[in-house]
Amino acid sequence: MSLESLYDFSFPNLQSRLEADGVRPIHAIQLWKLLYRELEKHPAQREDLSPPLSRWLRDNFGRTVGLTQSSVSESIKSSDGLTTKLLVRLHDGQEIETVVMGYPGRFTACISSQAGCAMGCVFCATGQMGFVRHLTKGEIVTQVLEAQRLLRADGQELRNLVLMGMGEPLHNYEAVVEALAAVCHSPGMGLAPSRISVSTVGLVPGIIRFTDERLPYSLAISLHAATDEARSRLLPVNQRWPLAELMDACRYYSERLERKVFFGWTLIAEQNDSLDHARCLTDLLRGMNAHVNLIRLNTTAGFNGHTSAEQAAQAFQKAIQAAGIPCTIRQFRGIDVAAGCGQLRAERQKAKASLRSKHGDADPICL
Ligand code: SAH
Ligand code: SF4
Repeated sequence: MSLESLYDFSFPNLQSRLEADGVRPIHAIQLWKLLYRELEKHPAQREDLSPPLSRWLRDNFGRTVGLTQSSVSESIKSSDGLTTKLLVRLHDGQEIETVVMGYPGRFTACISSQAGCAMGCVFCATGQMGFVRHLTKGEIVTQVLEAQRLLRADGQELRNLVLMGMGEPLHNYEAVVEALAAVCHSPGMGLAPSRISVSTVGLVPGIIRFTDERLPYSLAISLHAATDEARSRLLPVNQRWPLAELMDACRYYSERLERKVFFGWTLIAEQNDSLDHARCLTDLLRGMNAHVNLIRLNTTAGFNGHTSAEQAAQAFQKAIQAAGIPCTIRQFRGIDVAAGCGQLRAERQKAKASLRSKHGDADPICL
Protein backbone atom coordinates (compact mmCIF):
# COMPACT_ATOMS: atom_id res chain seq x y z
CA MET A 1 0.00 0.00 0.00
CA SER A 2 1.40 3.41 -0.86
CA LEU A 3 0.62 5.89 1.90
CA GLU A 4 1.31 9.52 1.24
CA SER A 5 0.88 11.04 4.68
CA LEU A 6 0.61 9.85 8.26
CA TYR A 7 -3.06 10.84 8.15
CA ASP A 8 -3.65 8.16 5.52
CA PHE A 9 -3.08 5.42 8.11
CA SER A 10 -5.92 3.78 9.98
CA PHE A 11 -4.98 2.88 13.55
CA PRO A 12 -4.64 -0.87 12.77
CA ASN A 13 -2.57 -0.02 9.63
CA LEU A 14 -0.26 2.12 11.70
CA GLN A 15 0.22 -0.66 14.24
CA SER A 16 1.03 -3.24 11.59
CA ARG A 17 3.34 -0.90 9.67
CA LEU A 18 5.30 -0.13 12.85
CA GLU A 19 5.50 -3.80 13.65
CA ALA A 20 6.70 -4.62 10.12
CA ASP A 21 9.41 -1.95 10.51
CA GLY A 22 10.57 -3.42 13.82
CA VAL A 23 8.96 -0.81 16.09
CA ARG A 24 6.73 -2.15 18.86
CA PRO A 25 3.08 -1.54 17.88
CA ILE A 26 2.42 -0.06 21.34
CA HIS A 27 4.06 3.12 20.00
CA ALA A 28 1.11 3.54 17.63
CA ILE A 29 -0.93 4.91 20.53
CA GLN A 30 1.67 7.55 21.33
CA LEU A 31 1.83 8.66 17.71
CA TRP A 32 -1.95 8.59 17.27
CA LYS A 33 -2.40 10.84 20.33
CA LEU A 34 0.22 13.24 19.00
CA LEU A 35 -1.52 13.53 15.66
CA TYR A 36 -5.17 13.48 16.67
CA ARG A 37 -5.22 14.80 20.23
CA GLU A 38 -2.28 17.18 20.41
CA LEU A 39 -2.70 18.12 16.72
CA GLU A 40 1.08 17.97 16.26
CA LYS A 41 2.08 18.96 12.72
CA HIS A 42 5.75 17.99 13.04
CA PRO A 43 5.85 14.77 15.04
CA ALA A 44 9.38 13.89 13.87
CA GLN A 45 10.69 17.02 15.59
CA ARG A 46 9.30 16.18 19.02
CA GLU A 47 11.91 15.45 21.61
CA ASP A 48 9.67 13.55 24.00
CA LEU A 49 9.23 10.47 21.78
CA SER A 50 10.55 7.00 22.46
CA PRO A 51 13.78 6.60 20.44
CA PRO A 52 12.50 3.83 18.09
CA LEU A 53 9.40 5.86 17.17
CA SER A 54 11.44 9.01 16.74
CA ARG A 55 13.84 7.19 14.41
CA TRP A 56 10.99 5.63 12.42
CA LEU A 57 9.36 9.03 11.94
CA ARG A 58 12.57 10.71 10.85
CA ASP A 59 13.37 7.87 8.43
CA ASN A 60 9.90 7.74 6.88
CA PHE A 61 8.25 11.10 7.30
CA GLY A 62 11.10 13.59 7.52
CA ARG A 63 10.18 16.91 9.03
CA THR A 64 6.43 16.80 8.65
CA VAL A 65 3.50 14.38 8.45
CA GLY A 66 4.20 13.51 4.83
CA LEU A 67 4.96 14.77 1.40
CA THR A 68 1.42 15.49 0.34
CA GLN A 69 0.39 17.75 3.16
CA SER A 70 -2.51 20.19 2.79
CA SER A 71 -2.33 23.72 4.20
CA VAL A 72 -4.82 26.45 5.02
CA SER A 73 -4.36 29.14 2.37
CA GLU A 74 -7.03 31.52 3.60
CA SER A 75 -9.22 31.92 6.65
CA ILE A 76 -12.20 34.29 6.69
CA LYS A 77 -14.45 35.07 9.64
CA SER A 78 -18.07 36.18 9.21
CA SER A 79 -19.00 39.57 10.61
CA ASP A 80 -20.88 37.98 13.52
CA GLY A 81 -17.65 36.12 14.34
CA LEU A 82 -19.42 32.75 14.56
CA THR A 83 -18.47 31.23 11.23
CA THR A 84 -15.01 30.77 9.79
CA LYS A 85 -14.41 29.51 6.33
CA LEU A 86 -11.05 27.91 5.58
CA LEU A 87 -9.76 27.53 2.07
CA VAL A 88 -7.52 24.47 2.18
CA ARG A 89 -4.86 24.10 -0.49
CA LEU A 90 -3.99 20.53 -1.43
CA HIS A 91 -0.53 19.38 -2.52
CA ASP A 92 -1.51 19.56 -6.22
CA GLY A 93 -2.85 23.11 -6.00
CA GLN A 94 -6.54 22.17 -5.73
CA GLU A 95 -8.51 24.17 -3.18
CA ILE A 96 -11.35 22.90 -1.04
CA GLU A 97 -13.49 24.46 1.65
CA THR A 98 -13.93 23.67 5.33
CA VAL A 99 -16.35 25.68 7.45
CA VAL A 100 -16.37 25.95 11.23
CA MET A 101 -19.58 27.30 12.68
CA GLY A 102 -21.60 27.43 15.83
CA TYR A 103 -22.12 28.61 19.35
CA PRO A 104 -19.78 27.97 22.26
CA GLY A 105 -20.17 24.41 23.42
CA ARG A 106 -21.48 23.03 20.16
CA PHE A 107 -19.13 23.83 17.35
CA THR A 108 -19.63 22.09 14.03
CA ALA A 109 -17.18 21.55 11.19
CA CYS A 110 -18.51 21.19 7.67
CA ILE A 111 -15.96 19.36 5.55
CA SER A 112 -15.45 18.47 1.88
CA SER A 113 -15.13 15.00 0.42
CA GLN A 114 -14.07 15.82 -3.15
CA ALA A 115 -12.47 18.63 -5.17
CA GLY A 116 -15.47 19.59 -7.31
CA CYS A 117 -18.40 17.23 -7.75
CA ALA A 118 -19.66 15.00 -10.55
CA MET A 119 -23.35 15.32 -9.66
CA GLY A 120 -24.03 18.64 -11.39
CA CYS A 121 -26.87 19.95 -9.20
CA VAL A 122 -27.79 23.14 -11.02
CA PHE A 123 -27.90 25.53 -8.04
CA CYS A 124 -24.66 24.39 -6.41
CA ALA A 125 -21.36 26.22 -6.94
CA THR A 126 -19.43 22.94 -6.55
CA GLY A 127 -21.69 21.18 -9.05
CA GLN A 128 -21.16 24.04 -11.50
CA MET A 129 -17.40 23.50 -11.26
CA GLY A 130 -17.53 19.82 -12.32
CA PHE A 131 -15.53 16.92 -10.88
CA VAL A 132 -11.81 17.30 -10.30
CA ARG A 133 -10.85 14.39 -8.04
CA HIS A 134 -11.66 12.44 -4.89
CA LEU A 135 -9.99 13.57 -1.68
CA THR A 136 -7.76 11.03 0.03
CA LYS A 137 -8.56 9.83 3.51
CA GLY A 138 -5.69 12.00 4.79
CA GLU A 139 -7.07 15.10 3.07
CA ILE A 140 -10.47 14.56 4.68
CA VAL A 141 -8.94 13.97 8.12
CA THR A 142 -6.75 17.08 7.77
CA GLN A 143 -9.82 19.31 7.46
CA VAL A 144 -11.19 18.03 10.76
CA LEU A 145 -7.81 18.62 12.42
CA GLU A 146 -7.61 22.16 11.00
CA ALA A 147 -11.11 22.89 12.33
CA GLN A 148 -10.05 21.60 15.75
CA ARG A 149 -6.84 23.72 15.65
CA LEU A 150 -8.89 26.81 14.94
CA LEU A 151 -11.28 26.10 17.81
CA ARG A 152 -8.52 25.17 20.28
CA ALA A 153 -6.90 28.56 19.66
CA ASP A 154 -10.10 30.04 21.16
CA GLY A 155 -10.26 27.48 23.97
CA GLN A 156 -13.07 25.55 22.27
CA GLU A 157 -13.51 21.95 21.12
CA LEU A 158 -15.12 20.51 18.02
CA ARG A 159 -18.30 18.59 18.77
CA ASN A 160 -20.22 17.97 15.55
CA LEU A 161 -19.12 17.07 12.06
CA VAL A 162 -21.14 17.27 8.85
CA LEU A 163 -20.12 16.14 5.37
CA MET A 164 -21.89 18.97 3.62
CA GLY A 165 -18.97 20.78 2.05
CA MET A 166 -17.75 20.27 -1.50
CA GLY A 167 -18.39 16.92 -3.13
CA GLU A 168 -20.64 13.90 -2.80
CA PRO A 169 -19.43 11.77 0.14
CA LEU A 170 -21.01 8.51 -1.04
CA HIS A 171 -19.19 8.88 -4.38
CA ASN A 172 -15.93 8.72 -2.38
CA TYR A 173 -17.25 6.11 0.03
CA GLU A 174 -14.10 4.31 1.23
CA ALA A 175 -12.02 7.41 1.92
CA VAL A 176 -14.92 9.06 3.77
CA VAL A 177 -15.63 6.00 5.91
CA GLU A 178 -11.95 5.52 6.79
CA ALA A 179 -11.55 9.21 7.64
CA LEU A 180 -14.59 9.13 9.93
CA ALA A 181 -13.30 6.02 11.69
CA ALA A 182 -9.96 7.82 12.29
CA VAL A 183 -11.49 10.95 13.84
CA CYS A 184 -13.76 8.81 16.03
CA HIS A 185 -10.95 6.55 17.31
CA SER A 186 -10.75 7.29 21.00
CA PRO A 187 -7.06 7.51 21.88
CA GLY A 188 -7.12 10.42 19.43
CA MET A 189 -9.93 12.87 18.74
CA GLY A 190 -12.68 10.52 19.81
CA LEU A 191 -15.55 12.36 18.12
CA ALA A 192 -18.92 10.75 18.89
CA PRO A 193 -20.28 8.95 15.78
CA SER A 194 -23.79 10.08 16.73
CA ARG A 195 -22.66 13.68 16.22
CA ILE A 196 -21.51 13.05 12.65
CA SER A 197 -23.81 13.49 9.70
CA VAL A 198 -23.23 12.37 6.11
CA SER A 199 -25.27 14.19 3.47
CA THR A 200 -25.94 12.60 0.07
CA VAL A 201 -27.68 13.72 -3.08
CA GLY A 202 -29.17 10.22 -3.25
CA LEU A 203 -26.69 7.62 -4.51
CA VAL A 204 -28.87 4.58 -3.90
CA PRO A 205 -26.14 1.88 -3.87
CA GLY A 206 -24.20 3.99 -1.36
CA ILE A 207 -27.25 4.33 0.93
CA ILE A 208 -27.75 0.56 0.83
CA ARG A 209 -24.08 -0.09 1.57
CA PHE A 210 -24.13 2.47 4.40
CA THR A 211 -27.11 0.58 5.85
CA ASP A 212 -25.69 -2.92 5.38
CA GLU A 213 -22.42 -1.84 7.03
CA ARG A 214 -24.47 -0.34 9.88
CA LEU A 215 -22.38 2.81 9.87
CA PRO A 216 -23.00 4.67 13.13
CA TYR A 217 -23.44 8.12 11.54
CA SER A 218 -26.62 10.05 10.70
CA LEU A 219 -27.69 10.11 7.10
CA ALA A 220 -29.13 13.20 5.42
CA ILE A 221 -30.71 13.04 1.96
CA SER A 222 -30.74 16.16 -0.21
CA LEU A 223 -34.22 15.91 -1.70
CA HIS A 224 -35.22 19.42 -2.91
CA ALA A 225 -38.18 18.18 -4.98
CA ALA A 226 -40.89 15.56 -4.49
CA THR A 227 -41.71 14.68 -8.11
CA ASP A 228 -39.31 13.10 -10.61
CA GLU A 229 -39.90 15.83 -13.15
CA ALA A 230 -39.01 18.65 -10.76
CA ARG A 231 -36.15 16.76 -9.13
CA SER A 232 -34.52 15.78 -12.42
CA ARG A 233 -34.52 19.45 -13.46
CA LEU A 234 -32.52 20.40 -10.36
CA LEU A 235 -30.51 17.23 -9.73
CA PRO A 236 -29.38 15.25 -12.80
CA VAL A 237 -28.66 12.26 -10.53
CA ASN A 238 -32.43 11.76 -10.24
CA GLN A 239 -32.45 10.38 -13.78
CA ARG A 240 -30.18 7.57 -12.64
CA TRP A 241 -31.93 6.88 -9.33
CA PRO A 242 -35.47 8.27 -9.44
CA LEU A 243 -37.54 9.05 -6.37
CA ALA A 244 -39.21 5.64 -6.02
CA GLU A 245 -35.81 3.92 -5.77
CA LEU A 246 -34.41 6.62 -3.52
CA MET A 247 -37.35 6.46 -1.13
CA ASP A 248 -37.13 2.64 -1.03
CA ALA A 249 -33.46 2.97 -0.05
CA CYS A 250 -34.36 5.55 2.63
CA ARG A 251 -37.02 3.25 4.08
CA TYR A 252 -34.56 0.36 4.04
CA TYR A 253 -32.04 2.47 6.00
CA SER A 254 -34.65 3.80 8.42
CA GLU A 255 -36.33 0.46 9.14
CA ARG A 256 -33.23 -1.71 9.24
CA LEU A 257 -31.29 0.63 11.53
CA GLU A 258 -34.34 2.08 13.31
CA ARG A 259 -33.17 5.59 12.58
CA LYS A 260 -34.67 8.86 11.51
CA VAL A 261 -33.85 10.09 8.01
CA PHE A 262 -32.97 13.79 7.66
CA PHE A 263 -34.17 15.30 4.40
CA GLY A 264 -32.59 18.50 3.09
CA TRP A 265 -34.69 20.87 0.99
CA THR A 266 -33.12 23.98 -0.53
CA LEU A 267 -35.94 26.50 -1.00
CA ILE A 268 -35.84 28.19 -4.39
CA ALA A 269 -38.41 30.93 -5.02
CA GLU A 270 -41.32 29.74 -7.18
CA GLN A 271 -39.59 26.47 -8.04
CA ASN A 272 -40.11 24.35 -4.94
CA ASP A 273 -41.35 26.63 -2.14
CA SER A 274 -45.16 26.72 -2.52
CA LEU A 275 -47.72 25.02 -0.31
CA ASP A 276 -48.42 22.60 -3.19
CA HIS A 277 -44.76 21.57 -3.10
CA ALA A 278 -45.02 21.14 0.66
CA ARG A 279 -48.06 18.87 0.20
CA CYS A 280 -46.17 16.73 -2.35
CA LEU A 281 -43.35 16.38 0.16
CA THR A 282 -45.60 15.35 3.04
CA ASP A 283 -47.27 12.76 0.75
CA LEU A 284 -43.86 11.37 -0.13
CA LEU A 285 -42.72 11.12 3.49
CA ARG A 286 -45.97 9.74 4.94
CA GLY A 287 -45.29 6.91 7.40
CA MET A 288 -41.53 7.50 7.51
CA ASN A 289 -39.45 8.43 10.52
CA ALA A 290 -38.31 11.69 8.94
CA HIS A 291 -37.09 15.18 9.74
CA VAL A 292 -37.01 17.96 7.14
CA ASN A 293 -34.27 20.61 7.13
CA LEU A 294 -35.10 23.63 5.02
CA ILE A 295 -32.42 25.95 3.76
CA ARG A 296 -33.01 29.07 1.69
CA LEU A 297 -31.00 29.13 -1.55
CA ASN A 298 -27.66 30.92 -1.55
CA THR A 299 -27.62 32.38 -5.03
CA THR A 300 -24.71 31.31 -7.25
CA ALA A 301 -23.31 32.80 -10.47
CA GLY A 302 -24.25 29.81 -12.62
CA PHE A 303 -27.94 29.54 -11.64
CA ASN A 304 -30.57 32.18 -12.05
CA GLY A 305 -32.97 30.96 -9.33
CA HIS A 306 -33.83 33.25 -6.42
CA THR A 307 -33.80 32.83 -2.67
CA SER A 308 -37.24 32.12 -1.17
CA ALA A 309 -38.78 34.89 0.89
CA GLU A 310 -38.57 34.38 4.64
CA GLN A 311 -42.38 34.25 4.80
CA ALA A 312 -42.54 31.52 2.15
CA ALA A 313 -39.99 29.50 4.12
CA GLN A 314 -42.01 29.85 7.30
CA ALA A 315 -45.29 28.89 5.58
CA PHE A 316 -43.57 25.85 4.05
CA GLN A 317 -42.22 24.84 7.45
CA LYS A 318 -45.67 25.16 9.07
CA ALA A 319 -47.25 22.98 6.37
CA ILE A 320 -44.70 20.21 6.96
CA GLN A 321 -45.10 20.43 10.72
CA ALA A 322 -48.91 20.37 10.39
CA ALA A 323 -48.54 16.93 8.76
CA GLY A 324 -46.73 15.73 11.90
CA ILE A 325 -43.23 15.83 10.40
CA PRO A 326 -40.56 17.70 12.39
CA CYS A 327 -39.17 20.53 10.28
CA THR A 328 -36.50 23.16 10.94
CA ILE A 329 -35.18 26.06 8.92
CA ARG A 330 -31.40 25.86 8.87
CA GLN A 331 -29.81 29.25 9.26
CA PHE A 332 -26.97 29.25 6.82
CA ARG A 333 -24.46 30.98 9.04
CA GLY A 334 -21.92 33.44 7.81
CA ILE A 335 -23.68 34.37 4.61
CA ASP A 336 -21.09 37.16 4.24
CA VAL A 337 -18.24 34.67 3.80
CA ALA A 338 -19.77 33.01 0.73
CA ALA A 339 -21.32 30.35 2.90
CA GLY A 340 -22.77 28.07 0.22
CA CYS A 341 -20.76 24.99 -0.64
CA GLY A 342 -18.01 25.82 -3.16
CA GLN A 343 -18.81 29.53 -3.27
CA LEU A 344 -15.66 30.91 -1.67
CA ARG A 345 -13.46 28.83 -3.95
CA ALA A 346 -15.51 29.92 -6.97
CA GLU A 347 -15.07 33.58 -5.97
CA ARG A 348 -11.32 33.18 -5.54
CA GLN A 349 -10.99 31.43 -8.90
CA LYS A 350 -12.91 34.29 -10.53
CA ALA A 351 -10.64 36.85 -8.91
CA LYS A 352 -7.53 34.95 -10.05
CA ALA A 353 -8.92 34.70 -13.58
CA SER A 354 -9.57 38.41 -13.78
CA LEU A 355 -6.08 39.14 -12.46
CA ARG A 356 -4.63 36.83 -15.13
CA SER A 357 -6.59 38.48 -17.91
CA LYS A 358 -5.44 41.91 -16.67
CA HIS A 359 -1.86 40.68 -16.96
CA GLY A 360 -2.42 39.11 -20.36
CA ASP A 361 -1.81 35.56 -19.08
CA ALA A 362 -4.04 33.16 -20.95
CA ASP A 363 -3.67 30.15 -18.60
CA PRO A 364 -7.03 28.40 -18.27
CA ILE A 365 -8.51 28.20 -14.76
CA CYS A 366 -7.88 24.74 -13.40
CA LEU A 367 -11.36 23.32 -12.72
N1 SAH B 1 -23.15 16.35 -1.98
C1 SAH B 1 -23.85 16.26 -0.78
C2 SAH B 1 -23.22 17.07 0.34
C3 SAH B 1 -22.71 18.44 0.02
S1 SAH B 1 -23.88 19.66 -0.42
C4 SAH B 1 -25.30 16.65 -0.95
O1 SAH B 1 -25.65 17.19 -1.99
O2 SAH B 1 -26.07 16.34 -0.05
C5 SAH B 1 -24.65 20.04 1.12
C6 SAH B 1 -26.03 20.65 1.00
O3 SAH B 1 -25.96 22.01 0.53
C7 SAH B 1 -26.94 19.91 0.04
O4 SAH B 1 -28.19 19.68 0.64
C8 SAH B 1 -27.05 20.86 -1.10
O5 SAH B 1 -28.20 20.65 -1.85
C9 SAH B 1 -26.98 22.20 -0.44
N2 SAH B 1 -26.63 23.30 -1.34
C10 SAH B 1 -25.75 23.28 -2.35
N3 SAH B 1 -25.70 24.48 -2.96
C11 SAH B 1 -26.56 25.28 -2.29
C12 SAH B 1 -26.96 26.62 -2.46
N4 SAH B 1 -26.44 27.38 -3.42
N5 SAH B 1 -27.88 27.12 -1.60
C13 SAH B 1 -28.40 26.35 -0.63
N6 SAH B 1 -28.07 25.07 -0.42
C14 SAH B 1 -27.16 24.52 -1.26
FE1 SF4 C 1 -22.48 17.75 -5.52
FE2 SF4 C 1 -23.97 18.08 -3.33
FE3 SF4 C 1 -23.34 20.17 -4.90
FE4 SF4 C 1 -25.04 18.33 -5.78
S1 SF4 C 1 -25.33 19.71 -4.03
S2 SF4 C 1 -23.36 19.20 -6.95
S3 SF4 C 1 -24.18 16.49 -4.91
S4 SF4 C 1 -21.92 18.94 -3.72
